[in-house]
Amino acid sequence: MRLSVRTRLVLWFIASITLLFVVMLYITYGIFSHAIYASDVTVRLDEILLERAQRAGSNIVLHRGPFATPPEQYSSLFSRWIGYDVFLNPACGQLRDYPENFGDEPLIIIRNNALEGRFIPLTQFAYANLSRGAHSVETIENVFQYPLRVVTLLVHDREGHRYALQIGMSMQFVSTTLGNVLLKFFIWGPFLILAISLTGYFFVKASLKPVHDVVLVAREITAEDLSRRVPVLETDDEIGDLSITLNDMISRLEKSFEQVRQFSDDVSHELKTPLAVIRGEVEVTLRTERSGEEYRSTLVSILEESQKLESIMENLLFLSRLDVKKKSICLSDIALDELLIEVFEETALMAKERGICFSLRQVDEVRVHGDGGLLKRLLVNLIQNALKYTKQGGKVEVSLKSDSIGCGGSEKEAVFIVSDTGIGIPRIDLPHIFDRFYRVDKSRSAKTGGSGLGLTIVKKILDIHHGRIVVRSTLKEGSTFFVYLPKN
Ligand code: ADP
Repeated sequence: MRLSVRTRLVLWFIASITLLFVVMLYITYGIFSHAIYASDVTVRLDEILLERAQRAGSNIVLHRGPFATPPEQYSSLFSRWIGYDVFLNPACGQLRDYPENFGDEPLIIIRNNALEGRFIPLTQFAYANLSRGAHSVETIENVFQYPLRVVTLLVHDREGHRYALQIGMSMQFVSTTLGNVLLKFFIWGPFLILAISLTGYFFVKASLKPVHDVVLVAREITAEDLSRRVPVLETDDEIGDLSITLNDMISRLEKSFEQVRQFSDDVSHELKTPLAVIRGEVEVTLRTERSGEEYRSTLVSILEESQKLESIMENLLFLSRLDVKKKSICLSDIALDELLIEVFEETALMAKERGICFSLRQVDEVRVHGDGGLLKRLLVNLIQNALKYTKQGGKVEVSLKSDSIGCGGSEKEAVFIVSDTGIGIPRIDLPHIFDRFYRVDKSRSAKTGGSGLGLTIVKKILDIHHGRIVVRSTLKEGSTFFVYLPKN
């Protein structure tokens, strides 16, 4: 069965209140009955019982003894000795032979009618007092209908025969009073619980209303309409926090959806251009009969455009795999200097073809914690960019240094530097060159076949390695890229 939070809270509330009520009842009953037994009334009752027991005792002392059975014979006489009632309750009493051992068969010698054929038990407490010749006062429960207050006294007759004299009085007035209190509790208790539960129900309902409102709005929010927000409560509590957290989450979702939308737009736009070029070339070529040379030139152009398409797809695939793999990439100890020399040798040919003076200036021995494949891609992208955007006769220099940072130079960083004397990057474009598909000048990238994804990949790889990149560039003079990686 599915119960709402509100119902569950109310049920818990009712259960707790009922339990509390029962515990309170138990404690109140205990305190109340203890208070009655310790009250002046009970103290006075004890005095009266003792006084009467002593009076009866002094009459027994005068008796020559031994008393003859059956006990009923002396009943009215005994009743006269102890008096008929105490506080309007009939007083009861009995005289029993003094038992030599505790628990001996009770030999009742006299008892009055108020006992109605029963007898007052002799407790261990009373017996212990009797053996010391002292009297005792106690309440005997579970023998008569109501608890019996009993005084036990040691007496003897003129011959010195010992007896236990027990005078008692029913504590009916206490039981009745306590019973009345209990009855009132039982009559009014359910009403009280009901009233408190109803109050609790309305309180819980009012407290959960904002959650209900949030749920209603949240249900209406879909992927197409992420601009809506749930109502924010101005209360400084969990429900206020919940609505703020939900709104933050919706904002993040909205941003992600926007990024995905933007990504699809960018990708279709980027793919459209080379495809349009291919289509245009083919259409123009097919319009009339062409020479072999013309067909060849069209095919070369198609090849170039499809290479561009391939490069875009390859880079996009790499980026998306990087996003998926990001958390599971295993970083290991990498000798960055060796990796740089390897990349330098691989790209030297490209520099030679472009007539660029390409050199390794300083290569310190540096080890970093990273992924070899990704770091190689980072170095290749930056070096290839430097070579791509430097004209013939220009210079590209790379170096790798070990640097100290932090307080007292305690932390070490690897700094990879690529500097070129190329075309440079306008100041206004510098903050954007790491954005996806961003190209400073479409025409210059078109010449170099750039897709605007190379630096995006570099930035992503650096994020995985907790590194950073700084660019200094002057238009027409050249650029320098500084890559900082935490050292092992
Ligand atoms: P692309 O594939 O177009 O080179 P990148 O993401 O690698 O894309 O670079 C983004 C843009 O930054 C490039 O289009 C280019 O204009 C500029 N750029 C990158 N590196 C250099 C450099 N060394 N010198 C001049 N411009 C650069």
